[in-house]
Amino acid sequence: MDSIMKLRMVAIASLVAIIFSSCSTTPVTGRRQINLMSDTEVAKMGIAQFEQKKAQGLISRDPRMNEWLLNAGERIAQQVFWDMPMAEWEFVIFEDPEVNAFALPGGKIGIHTGLFKEGIVTSEEELAAVVAHEIAHVTARHSHEQLSQAGVLKAGSAVTSITTGGLGSMILNPSMISNMASWDRAKESEADRIGIMYMARAGYNPTAAIKVMEKMADKYGTQATYRAQLDPNIGHPHPSERLDGLHAQLAEAMEAYEKAKEMQF
Ligand SMILES: [Zn+2]
Repeated sequence: MDSIMKLRMVAIASLVAIIFSSCSTTPVTGRRQINLMSDTEVAKMGIAQFEQKKAQGLISRDPRMNEWLLNAGERIAQQVFWDMPMAEWEFVIFEDPEVNAFALPGGKIGIHTGLFKEGIVTSEEELAAVVAHEIAHVTARHSHEQLSQAGVLKAGSAVTSITTGGLGSMILNPSMISNMASWDRAKESEADRIGIMYMARAGYNPTAAIKVMEKMADKYGTQATYRAQLDPNIGHPHPSERLDGLHAQLAEAMEAYEKAKEMQF
């Protein structure tokens, strides 16, 4: 075996070893994912970003919205403790007309007032659906995965340059490192599936998640008009597509909800 060949084998073997020893499993869906990042490392980035957002954005002090958010956030965070024990959950409402919410690693959740003003969220239960979806992004370690994949891409291209092609390209498996648009769609529907289970376990009727998504579907109209409003590079699935996924998870979520109600009373 010549030395180039040896070097090639070692490089590939170590990269494969890193990838396989660094898998985690998503809650609820049980999907194995690549994860090369530590929770602490990723949380640090999320916390810094959230602090910046709080310093720049306008925080809403609306008492009713904040009470709903505090209740829903606390109840769901309790349910997910073992999925992300080091998270320091924080829930903030930002004055922003955009119908949106976001999650940052470390457990930082932002809700826009646009969701209330546009009538998408009209109760604590409906807000719980939004909060549970955002929490699911955090516990499913979607940011870890994205950062890890970016790291593997870099490492993979380094290996490829050593080996001048051949096996190096196998590591850049297109099913593992798919394009951003399809990755975005997959993580949205995964957060929907996990989220509807979380809200149900916290004792919120999971049909509220369906109601919220129906209102989103009404608001955004057809696939074509929806796409036109978004950056074409962002693969957010249309609300009607997300509704199908939520309906598929509903029976299991209803069971969890009934169980949670029994525990409460
Ligand atoms: Zn999402």
